[in-house]
Amino acid sequence: MQLQFLGGAGEVGRSAILVNDSLLLDYGMMTGNPPQFPVGSVDPDAVVVSHGHLDHVGTVPALLSGSEWPAVHWTPPTYELALTLARDTLKLHGGTYDCPFTETHIRRMTQQSEPHDYGETFEAAGHEVTFYNAGHIPGSAHVLVDDGETRLLYTADFHTDDQRLVSGTTDRPDADVVICESTYSDVEHEDRATVEERFVESVRTTIWQGGTVVVPAFAIGRTQEILMVLDAHDIDCYVDGMGTQVLKMLRNHPDYVRDPTALKRAKSNARIVSGRDGQRRRIARQNSVIVTTSGMLSGGPAMTYIPEIRQDPTNKICLTGYQVEGTPGRELVERGRCELNGGVVPVAARAEMYDFSAHADKHGLREFLAGYRETPVFVNHGDRCAAFAEELRTDGFEAVAPDVGAVVEV
Ligand SMILES: [Zn+2]
Repeated sequence: MQLQFLGGAGEVGRSAILVNDSLLLDYGMMTGNPPQFPVGSVDPDAVVVSHGHLDHVGTVPALLSGSEWPAVHWTPPTYELALTLARDTLKLHGGTYDCPFTETHIRRMTQQSEPHDYGETFEAAGHEVTFYNAGHIPGSAHVLVDDGETRLLYTADFHTDDQRLVSGTTDRPDADVVICESTYSDVEHEDRATVEERFVESVRTTIWQGGTVVVPAFAIGRTQEILMVLDAHDIDCYVDGMGTQVLKMLRNHPDYVRDPTALKRAKSNARIVSGRDGQRRRIARQNSVIVTTSGMLSGGPAMTYIPEIRQDPTNKICLTGYQVEGTPGRELVERGRCELNGGVVPVAARAEMYDFSAHADKHGLREFLAGYRETPVFVNHGDRCAAFAEELRTDGFEAVAPDVGAVVEV
């Protein structure tokens, strides 16, 4: 089996791996200015997508130009998330380099879509492929690829612990080679129950004191997780941004959610913001809790709420995940200021960070890999892939961290 690492190797973003020159695993986009896409030009017979995050699926529509269009295989929620993301990219960046596709390509994506459930083996570009629950977001999958000689397990993004929205991964299919993500290979997550407790306590305190809490959250996975946390603790809230669409979509896929009843309850507990007629401004002044995109304050409705609440130290901004270096969210946490409308302004409202991660931490990664001690491991999707591969080798694994562009035979 031949593997070509076209992106997401030694980095997070633009994940793409070409198997036997014919089967593409993921085709993501690395956001940034400018955004980055997988290297090389590919013409695969089929594409298999692990999950509906931009860095795994963002560039897929661009594969549907030319005369031969590849089949696109994914789980049903991944298909819907891919459509939502593609339309959002088109709306934000259509007609520029930042958006390498058009409405036509998105339409073709719906024609070429072949959804599969977990555990159902299907054929793609002459390979046998099976999805297993990866516990990362609804519909996220480990991808097992069998070319008749070699079985490759591509873990993609996964979590070993349960979240409220999805259960952690438990399947460990037999494989001859593993490609393993390593986003948090040197991080130890605080126990989820403790994170929740601190978050809820902080939100409650602010509400008692008469303040407003803005909770920036990623649209896919995180927004719904936070709504479930708030509902479980009887805290009323508003929800705004693309996470609202995802919330509605998930109603149609109860099998991909850990507790559909709890998600339904969380949905009715949250009031959906339409954003019309200065509604956001009113809500921000209301002593309320608002869950909204974007998760790192790089845009979205969050940027309407922040100016409204920033000057009062009674108010709070509760960030719900890791803030990447160089993002406005990181700037806020570290320096107490925020970029608004091109200018940098001080923020008196308190900023706090809560680690509601959807990835395995260093213990989770080891727990997962414990099932593959005799199997060669390729480490990808991380900022310190080489260091993690070295740690694995010290521990007796056969592990390497390929660079972008690497071609290997296994
Ligand atoms: Zn992901």
